[in-house]
Amino acid sequence: MPMKYYDYLIVGQGICGSILALMLRERNKSLLVIDQGHPVTSSRIAAGIVNPVTGKNFVKTWMADVIIPFAHQYYQALQMNWSAPLIAEKLIYRGLDNIEAENKWISRTGDPDYQDYCTEFSSFEEFRPYILPASSYGVVRGGFQVNLPLLLDRTREILQSQGSLQIGSFDHKELRFTGSFFEYKELMAGKIIFCEGFRGKIIRFFPICLFPSKGEVLFIKIPDADFRNLIKHDQFIAHLYDDIYWVGRGYEWRAENEQPSESAKEKILANLQSMLKVPFEITDHKAAIRPATKNRRPIILQHKEFPGMYFFNGMGTKGTSLAPYFADRLVQNLEGNAVL
Ligand SMILES: Cc1cc2nc3c(=O)[nH]c(=O)nc-3n(C[C@H](O)[C@H](O)[C@H](O)COP(=O)(O)OP(=O)(O)OC[C@H]3O[C@@H](n4cnc5c(N)ncnc54)[C@H](O)[C@@H]3O)c2cc1C
Repeated sequence: MPMKYYDYLIVGQGICGSILALMLRERNKSLLVIDQGHPVTSSRIAAGIVNPVTGKNFVKTWMADVIIPFAHQYYQALQMNWSAPLIAEKLIYRGLDNIEAENKWISRTGDPDYQDYCTEFSSFEEFRPYILPASSYGVVRGGFQVNLPLLLDRTREILQSQGSLQIGSFDHKELRFTGSFFEYKELMAGKIIFCEGFRGKIIRFFPICLFPSKGEVLFIKIPDADFRNLIKHDQFIAHLYDDIYWVGRGYEWRAENEQPSESAKEKILANLQSMLKVPFEITDHKAAIRPATKNRRPIILQHKEFPGMYFFNGMGTKGTSLAPYFADRLVQNLEGNAVL
């Protein structure tokens, strides 16, 4: 049987592999995505929050003024194309517990560099029936939430309908380079891009240093709740659908496995009980490992010996914000020699 040729072979269909595949498809490239089909991955359990100002010191996300508008435009265009509710603008309420946090926040609101993002206070009415208020709140504007399960599922359907998806584990030992293209089992590809998330830690071809970090999520039902903006007080509470909410936290750097743990559940619950003043019910508990890097920057690499081989990874806690802009940069490089 003749071998089938693809312009691109993409390994992994998380947010990185998905957006890359959609962008290459837009350019009419032939491609095959190989994905293990795990029901629980970092992209699948993430809240999809794009947050312009993060951390205890309320620091602007790296390249926020460039990557966030780019991501917003990208997801909005997809939403229009798909006629599906992919993206929702959200205010982010940051609990300020003490004078130090309040002072830091006030200094941000007076900083011209933060004027698009940090505002002093906005009415708490939306949350009042459900949340025990912190002493005060700072409100982040310019954030939004992306429905990542929808993004992944719709991409999967599109790829499947075109015979561009293979479910299974890519076996790195089976990859051969012939001099002008790659051979993998019964197929050939001009270029190959590894988008394997934290599993990229163990691939053979790139001496990469990922620092994977485990995160855990409780999915809870708050009967009749109808708050839609995001609230963060140590951990986020984010609306998903109906009266189901996402509550997540955690950076376990030396995680031994991807299983949800009782200790993380207890921490999330303790914090939740100090925030919520209404009954709730846990509907699910999941854990996954983020592909973080030491310097908290994404990684795009071209292999020195095999120039058609690339590595697209290292999105850490910010895959939703970073992936569209950097996938676009990578595609421009792949297709037009733009510098990475
Ligand atoms: C609890 C939690 C909450 C988060 N919340 C947010 C948030 O609100 N906002 C945000 O921006 N980010 C968030 N993140 C981070 C975000 O999820 C990651 O940055 C992003 O998902 C990384 O995407 P990825 O495509 O690189 O990796 P992944 O999502 O891990 O995808 C990699 C894919 O490759 C597949 N794969 C791996 N190896 C192989 C192989 N050999 N063969 C075939 N397939 C393979 C895997 O099965 C998987 O489908 C969160 C993460 C966690 C854990």
